[in-house]
Order: sequence, then C-alpha cells, then structure tokens
Amino acid sequence: MPTATTSLTQEVQQLLDALGVPAAAYTQGDLVVHSPITGEEIARVTQTTDQDAAAAITTAQQAFTAWRTTPAPRRGELVRILGEELRAELPNLGRLVTIENGKLLSEGFGEVQEMIDICGFAAGLSRQLAGLTLPSERPGHRMMESWHPLGVVGVISAFNFPVAVWSWNAALALVCGNAVVWKPSEKTPLTALATQAIFERAAKKFGDVPEGLCALLTGGQNLGQMLVDSPQIPLVSATGSTAMGRAVAPRLAARFARAILELGGNNAAIVCPSADLDLALRAVAFSAMGTAGQRCTTLRRLIVHESIYDTLVERLRKVFLSVGVGDPRESNTLVGPLIDQNAFSAMQSALKEARSAGGTVTGGERVSVEDTSNQAFYVRPALVEMPAQTAVVQRETFAPILYVLKYRDLDEAIALQNDVPQGLSSSIFTLNLQEAECFLSASGSDCGIANVNVGTSGAEIGGAFGGEKETGGGRESGSDSWKQYMRRATNTINYSTHLPLAQGVRFEIDTPIA
Ligand code: NAD
Repeated sequence: MPTATTSLTQEVQQLLDALGVPAAAYTQGDLVVHSPITGEEIARVTQTTDQDAAAAITTAQQAFTAWRTTPAPRRGELVRILGEELRAELPNLGRLVTIENGKLLSEGFGEVQEMIDICGFAAGLSRQLAGLTLPSERPGHRMMESWHPLGVVGVISAFNFPVAVWSWNAALALVCGNAVVWKPSEKTPLTALATQAIFERAAKKFGDVPEGLCALLTGGQNLGQMLVDSPQIPLVSATGSTAMGRAVAPRLAARFARAILELGGNNAAIVCPSADLDLALRAVAFSAMGTAGQRCTTLRRLIVHESIYDTLVERLRKVFLSVGVGDPRESNTLVGPLIDQNAFSAMQSALKEARSAGGTVTGGERVSVEDTSNQAFYVRPALVEMPAQTAVVQRETFAPILYVLKYRDLDEAIALQNDVPQGLSSSIFTLNLQEAECFLSASGSDCGIANVNVGTSGAEIGGAFGGEKETGGGRESGSDSWKQYMRRATNTINYSTHLPLAQGVRFEIDTPIA
C-alpha cells in the first residue's frame, strides 16, 4: 500500500511490480507516460520496433493455426481463468487505470469489473457458438451453418477505456478461436503492459496456450497502421476518434479486411414534460460530467421541453457549479482531470466558438488543484445554453461540455437528436409510453444505443455496443457480436442416393460404366 510519502512514480512501480510487469519494460524506453492527476512523468515505456511487431503478427498467425483446433469450451476455459486472474488483480489494475487515465477510482475499478464480466460472458459463450440448421428444398438434403475462427484479430484502442476495450475484443476473439494482437493508446501503455502480464499468468495456468496467442505492441500510430495493412490480419477492431476511423477504414476496405469501428459519439438526451426530474437530473449529471466528459457515450447535448426548461437548467447549473473537481483518488471528487493539454485547449476553443454562436456558458474554466504541476488540467464542467444546434454542437469535443437546447414538440426533439453526423448513444426521459415508444421506433433515435429513463453512458457488457453513422457501425461485447469474430460457412449435405438440383434445374448426363 502506498504511504503518505510515496510519490506517484513509486506507487506506479509498486503496482506494476505487483502486477508482474518487469521494470525494464517501463523505465528505459522513449515513450514517456504522464499521469493526468499531477501531470508528472511516471514511466518511460519501451516501444515495439516495426521488426518486432511484424514478428509478433507472424507468431500470432502460427498460434492461431493451433488454437483454432482447440475445442471452443476449452478455449473458454482460458478466458475463464483470465477472468479469475483479473478478479484477483482488480484493486491493483483498477488503481493503475486511475493513475494512468485520471478516471475516478470507482470507475477504474469498474473498468476492471467490466473485463471480468466479459470474461464470464465469453466463457459461457464458448459452449454456444451455434449455427442454424435450415430446411433444404431438396429431398434427402440438409443445410446448416458452421462458424469457424477467422485468424489474427488486430485491436487498436483509445486512452479513455485503456483496458476494457481490449477485453471486449480479446475475450470474444479467443473463445471464437482467434489470436489477438493489441495496439493500445500511446497515452496508456502501462495498463496495457499490466493486462498483458495478467494474460500471460492465465495462459501459464491454462497450460498449453500456443506461444504468442495474445501479443502487445506498445507505441504510436505506426504500429496501428501495421495492423491495418497486414494481410495476415483479417479483422481489425479499432476504437478511437472518427478521424482515426477515416484513416483506417479505406485501407481495410482496400484489402477486403473486416473492420469493427467504434468511433466518436455526440450523444443526446431528450427531457419531456412528464419526466421524473430528480431522476433525469442525476442521470444527466453522471452522463455529462462523469469521467470528466471523456467517454464515447458522454452526454453532450440536452434537449429539454420548453415547459420545464427553466426549472431543469437552473437545477443543473447549481450542480455544475458545485460538483467536486479534483484528484480522482479522493472520495469527494466526481470530476477528475482531462487527459492532457490538447484536451484542455480543444475544450476552451469549443467554448469560445459556442459563445460566438450565441451560447451562454456556465463553468468551463480551469480549476487549480493542490499538489499538481501546471501540466495537470482540471476544469469545471461547462453547461452551455445554445440558441440552435450550431456547428460546434454538431462536433464531438472530448471534454465535459453539455450543450442545452429547447424544444416544443417531440418530432422536433427527435429531429434535433438525429441531426448530427454521429450515432452512438441517446436517451429519453419521460413517463409517457407514447413518447418512449416513438423514441425507440424506426422513426425515433437513429443511434446504436437508445435508452429510456437511463443516461447515455454506462452500458453493460450483455448488450451489443456501438453506433451508427460516423460512429462507425461496429458492435462489440454482448448479444451476438461474437459473429464478427468468426466466418460463416453454409453447408449442404446430401444423405440420399439422388442428385436433385436446386430451383428444379435439370442437368442429366449419361453415367459411363467404368
Ligand atoms: P485516437 O483516435 O486519437 O486514438 C485511438 C487509437 O488509434 C490509438 O491507439 C492511436 O494510436 C490509434 N491511431 C490513431 N490514428 C491511427 C491511424 N491512422 N492508424 C492506426 N491507428 C491509429 O482516440 P483517443 O483520443 O485515444 O480516444 C478518444 C476518441 O475515441 C473519442 O473520439 C471517443 O469518442 C472515441 N471512443 C469511441 C468508443 C466507441 O466505442 N465508440 C470508445 C472509446 C473511445
């Protein structure tokens, strides 16, 4: 346990040591890691060379050829053990997530809990990778679908869920019989190193995991590009900004590789006149300010009916002005730091643009926090009343800014909600069944996630996660997302002595006697 005099760097070393990461991996490299909590340098990670990355991809492909023939329930056993190892390391890994990423401790722990949850889901799934049996139009025939492993799955992940996103992909990919090569965010390589060490312990306990089945590449975009361009990788799951998706999607398409794209969101909630305002207030507060506005599902637009607008906005203003901003390890903090200076600058320029478009801003200023350097960026979340959904509102700014708009009738509210390029998460707050069902219907929200009386953020692993339009269209995690990590073969089996052709086609030949 850290003492009052332990520095953050020392604590990181203690945590990494406990998690089984060798010091050489994070003390001698040139990838400098800062903690957003204090802004101080906490590690120097060794970057994977292009040559080592290429070798890791080749080894993963060899590992795949062995792993694909391991029975799926046995593959599930590896993932079950991984879940157990993660459970044992939850306090250490959860705390490291907080130190490296800046989210609250409960969120750091929650992120590891999510990893454990998906391992449980995937272990169960390993006995349910079921294909359909279908009626054949031909007598004495049967049709069915078989699901087979795909190959090496490349995973590119973002800083804001530094380890959970890997687990959503890896747990499913592994039970489906694939190998995984992971390129985490260059801003969060430490939690990735720790996760890799935990995986290797699980693999050792399991016994006969082929070498290199799960590989980690630490470094920048160039390594992500290697995954994208490698003909040895049939599927890349890429999580990050829409700009990143725009760069990788055409390259994947050019070589007909599969893509799971989990990109930027610009999520909205509609608050109707019948809403339970206390509940809506709490949900909006968490979705808009939680994780300092750095979730892909963060609530960025609030569309409020004119009859309750003044009441709700006044209450929200009080919450925005009083919420605890500070060190995410402190129990009274609800809003931790932004990841870095770029995030702070992007927030300030968005607020400037909003003001010049007629917005009224509450909050948004930098907050000074004791014992931090000028490289730590804390901000008061901003509540911005907007006269219209202008260009700045239509963009995702990855910071705690909540734009508020007024509406008169539900059609107008739904039109506003859908009138952005992104399509990740959405909510409606209402006690009126017609309004809720309208919102969920084909002419309602156009997002991958549509909730009723629940905020836009904080999804569970059981559902398929992802969004439409510029959010990329990918689905990860629960439901039948596993199908993306497998290839489907349609099989027709003839158990008769005749050879009838489909659609009544006739093609009779004289069978020569041998
Ligand atoms: P980012 O796009 O800067 O980086 C994400 C990852 O992509 C990093 O690992 C980076 O090295 C890599 N990368 C960047 N350009 C690349 C390229 N041309 N080729 C290959 N790899 C490349 O994103 P970020 O700042 O780390 O994360 C924040 C963004 O991620 C936000 O836009 C957020 O909405 C989005 N996000 C989306 C989801 C989702 O599920 N939809 C989840 C988390 C984060």
